[in-house]
Parts: sequence; structure tokens; C-alpha cells
Amino acid sequence: MINFDDLGPEKILEVYDQKTKMHGFLVIDNTKRGPGKGGIRMTPSVTVDEVARLARTMTFKCAMADLPFGGAKSGIVADVKNLTQKQKFDIISAFSEALKPLCPKMYVAAPDMNTAEEEMRVFAEANGSWRSCTGKPANMCVKPGKKCGIPHEYGSTGFGVYHALKIAVQHLGWDIKKIKIAIEGFGNVGSFVAKYLAEDGIKIVATSDSKGVCYLENGFDFKKLEEIKKKLGTVIKYPGCKILPTQDIINLDVDVLVTAAIPDLINEKNKDKVKAKLIIEGSNIPMTIEVEKYLHKKGILVVPDFVANAGGVISSYAEYKGYNPKSMLRLVERKIKNNTDLVLKEAKKKNIIPREAAMNLALRRIK
Ligand code: NAD
Repeated sequence: MINFDDLGPEKILEVYDQKTKMHGFLVIDNTKRGPGKGGIRMTPSVTVDEVARLARTMTFKCAMADLPFGGAKSGIVADVKNLTQKQKFDIISAFSEALKPLCPKMYVAAPDMNTAEEEMRVFAEANGSWRSCTGKPANMCVKPGKKCGIPHEYGSTGFGVYHALKIAVQHLGWDIKKIKIAIEGFGNVGSFVAKYLAEDGIKIVATSDSKGVCYLENGFDFKKLEEIKKKLGTVIKYPGCKILPTQDIINLDVDVLVTAAIPDLINEKNKDKVKAKLIIEGSNIPMTIEVEKYLHKKGILVVPDFVANAGGVISSYAEYKGYNPKSMLRLVERKIKNNTDLVLKEAKKKNIIPREAAMNLALRRIK
């Protein structure tokens, strides 16, 4: 069931192509601040309801990041495992053709589950406008070397999470050189958080992936960790570490926990096991708002997902405007620092959880 309210959704489009059997949806939630921004999810189970919920999240995320974008999302019903690359590209192409009346004027696409930079190349080519989507390959430029795609490999989300962490540590008055950090997940987001922390000489004592947690009291050597993950496929092969089950990442004796993998990591059942005093939500929805409120009462500060992990969407805006990767990273840093600072100050002043402060701020910006 889609909830219609005073924000949206403004438009819901369902499209089908007889030739490729492409069946997809576009939900444009709100365009008060600019064209709706949101990725294309390609899964067998995607529904218009799911897409509508994700589109609403994008409305808040873009407003929170103070970008001239509204919120939107798309879904294509397809089981990519049973498609050849050509079939997949043909479906993307047909989807892009079908969205032409609204894209890029009211909708700007991006990668999401099962879509990446090459799908964005196909989407932009079929649409005919370079601005129709972001997350395009770095060699897809308007002019040679000018206005090029900015794919996910630049690690903009992890870079933003790292800055959110540093601002929150400042708020707590901690010395960053003396704290212990655990990072849940060592994928695109988690590995870049680790990289930037390591470059600052900040200690990471634990990280995890789907195989387990690797805990190392004296901290990791980032380059070695990265190499092991690449070559051996898991962080638990790092020499000398204590290996624990994945769920134990939350009960380690650390000061900061960065979430960067699964939803509902912290839940009603395990919320009392959390030892960290600061949680930075790099992943989406690692806990419910009720759990966040519970942790707040226990004196644990949580920087919410749509504040901390907005680096990806800020990078999308930078690409849309034709920035290069260096200026994109500068923009991510500035926006994430300002927004985290604003949200934490407001939350402290009003004695509310940071998520509520962020929602209020985003709503003011939308309205
Ligand atoms: P990814 O697929 O690159 O990495 C996920 C990592 O989590 C992998 O290392 C995987 O092994 C690990 N993992 C899987 N199950 C785990 C478990 N039970 N415990 C610990 N680790 C586990 O994904 P990503 O792009 O890094 O995204 C991670 C989270 O961040 C997701 O919630 C995603 O929605 C969110 N996010 C990502 C971006 C982005 O730009 N990539 C932007 C905003 C939010």
C-alpha cells in the first residue's frame, strides 16, 4: 500500500516493453527541491510499494544533504542471474526509452541493486542526455577529459562516513588518536572508511564481512588488510586476529562502531549488548528508530544513516554538475561536516535523538 501525504508521491509510472519483456516502475516522490534523484533497482521481487518507500527516503536524503534534488526511485522486475549481459542491457535500454518523457527533467537515475556503471552508460545512451543518470563510467565524458562519469569506485560514501565520524568525535570531546573503532562490513563503504581512518593514523581494532569478525587488539595495517580481502576473499584471514561470529561486532569493547553492511544489525534482541558509545550508520537502517531512542537513553550517540552516508548522493550531484573527482570529494567533505555538525548541535539543544533533528531539518528544507 502506497502512503500518499503532503510530500507525495507526485508521479507513479509503470512501464512494459513487449519486445524485451521489460517491466518496471518509476516513483517520483517529491520535486520541490529539484528533479527526483534515485537509483534503479533490478530484482525479481521489486514492487511499486518498495520503490515508493525508497523514493521517500531519497526525498529526505537529498534535502538533508542540501542538494537541489528531490526524491525518486525506479525498479525493474528481473532476475539478473538468468539474463545474458545483452538481455540485461536491452532491458535497461527499453526502460530508459520509456522514461524519456520524465527523464532528466523530473527524474535523474543512478545505480542501485544489480545496476552499476555500465548499465548507466546504456541508460544515458538510450535517453540521449548525459544528465539523465549519474554513476556513469569515468571514461564517459561530454568532451574528452571534461565532464566525465563518477563511478562508485571513488568511495565517496565511505569518505563521507569518515568525516561524520570525526565531527561526532569532536562533539563528544574525545581525542581521536586514543579511541578504538570497529567497522561492520568491509565492502565499498566499510573499506573506504577504514582507508581514510588509516591514512590519519586512527586505530581500527575490528572489522567484519559475511565470514566473520576479525579482532586485533593492536589495530590493522590497512594496506595488508585490503590485500588480504582482495586476494583471500575475507578479512578473517588477516594473520593474528581473533575470529568471532559476525553478530559479535556489536559487543566488542570499542568506543566507535561504524555500521557498513546489513539492515537491523542492532535490534530488540541484542540492543543491550552494544558497548560502543558512538555509532555511525554507514549502512542503511542498521536499527529501528525505537532502538535508536533506547540507545540514546543509555547515552549512546547515533549518527543516522541519511546524514552519515549521503556521500554517494552528493557525489551524484557533483557528477551531474560536471565536477571532477577531486572537487567531488571536497564537496562531500564540506556537506557531510556541516550537516553532521548542524544535526548534532540541534539534537543536543533540544534533547532529541539526532535522527529526529535531521528529519526536522530535512522537512524544513523541503517545505
Ligand atoms: P558491499 O556489497 O560493497 O559490501 C558489503 C559488505 O558487507 C561485504 O564486505 C560483505 O561481505 C559484508 N557483509 C555481508 N553480510 C555481513 C554480515 N552479516 N556481517 C558483516 N558483514 C557482512 O556494499 P556497500 O556498497 O558497502 O553497502 C553497505 C551498506 O551501505 C548497505 O546498507 C548500503 O545500502 C549502504 N549504502 C551504500 C552506499 C554506497 O555508495 N555503496 C551508499 C549509501 C548507503
